[in-house]
Amino acid sequence: MKLGTKLIHAGVEPDPSTGAIMTPIFQTSTYVQAAPGDHKGYEYARTQNPTRNALQNALAAIENGKHGICFGSGLAATDAIMKLLSPGDEVVASSDLYGGTFRIFTKVFARYGIKFQFADLQDAAQLKQHLTPATKLIWIETPTNPMLNIIDIAACAAIAKGKGILLAVDNTFASPYLQNPLDLGADIVVHSATKYLGGHSDVVHGAVIVKDDALAQQLAFIQNSCGAVPGPQDCFLVLRGIKTLHVRMQRHCENGEAVARFLREHPKVGKVYWCGFEDHPNHDIAKKQMRGFGGMISFTLKDDSMDAALKVLSGTHLFSLAESLGGVESLIGHPASMTHASIPREERLKNGLTDSLIRLSVGIEDVSDLIEDLKKALS
Ligand SMILES: *Cc1c(COP(=O)(O)O)cnc(C)c1O
Repeated sequence: MKLGTKLIHAGVEPDPSTGAIMTPIFQTSTYVQAAPGDHKGYEYARTQNPTRNALQNALAAIENGKHGICFGSGLAATDAIMKLLSPGDEVVASSDLYGGTFRIFTKVFARYGIKFQFADLQDAAQLKQHLTPATKLIWIETPTNPMLNIIDIAACAAIAKGKGILLAVDNTFASPYLQNPLDLGADIVVHSATKYLGGHSDVVHGAVIVKDDALAQQLAFIQNSCGAVPGPQDCFLVLRGIKTLHVRMQRHCENGEAVARFLREHPKVGKVYWCGFEDHPNHDIAKKQMRGFGGMISFTLKDDSMDAALKVLSGTHLFSLAESLGGVESLIGHPASMTHASIPREERLKNGLTDSLIRLSVGIEDVSDLIEDLKKALS
């Protein structure tokens, strides 16, 4: 079955009691048993919920995995993956990471005796020099946030293979429409479904997708033991969102390309970061592992000052100044003071995340209006 069909049909069945075509929101905490232990597969809603099950099955199908495990947020999903580890274990992570991921690694899990190394993995071979016998997990984001760097997933998988090291890929930016890390050898896919999967800026949600049965069992154990589960209404919203993922992503990609090319020609714009440019350092890898280049763009100004950036940030009307990304409406953000404020300045600058860097989540409005909005803000 092709992705466009899977997005609409995978995981969902008409409701057996009524025939409702949409999976109902099972807003219940418990399920009645006929006799002790005699039940319909559902005992208590932290452990299992039919709305959540439908979504978990849909997510497994669209990432070409076998098991989906959902959480109350993307970071709760990350938290569950980290709980696979034990004190003394080591993690190698790509250095250009979502700020909240960097924070949970360095401020929470480092206190539990897990050691983190951050490496620039634009050349995947760099990974080798960071691996030790204690390395248990490699964590990458690609495209990265907010620099839109590309990491070769298959090359990382090849290096991890046979060493007892799990490769986790945060696929939030690409979404399953553009990239399927499990097909490229990754062991774990993690999503902030708050972004493209939900797609309408109305829910916070996270998901983990794997192929391996034993790994899925461990993650489901953590989901139930630690309890960071999503509510059924949130699962419903994500389930509804993914039904239009392909249609939305197609437009995000078209609009993203048009905006990236417009910015690149603009006299006041410095660097434009978008992995679809032929001269992007890892464009070939992007072409190999992705089916399009998405709607996320970052850029700097020729006047590389905070002041100049603030003028642009407050000068747009269609691009709303807000954190987050991946919704139907366009957003503009300032990583240094917003999404990435939790990363120390020296760390940020090392990755090219300067004070004037502006990030766009290009929505699915009419692109001529979006370009007009940016034109006005830049002038
Ligand atoms: C937003 C985001 C997260 C965290 O997800 P939440 O749903 O906000 O907890 C993780 N990774 C990336 C790439 C993100 O953009």
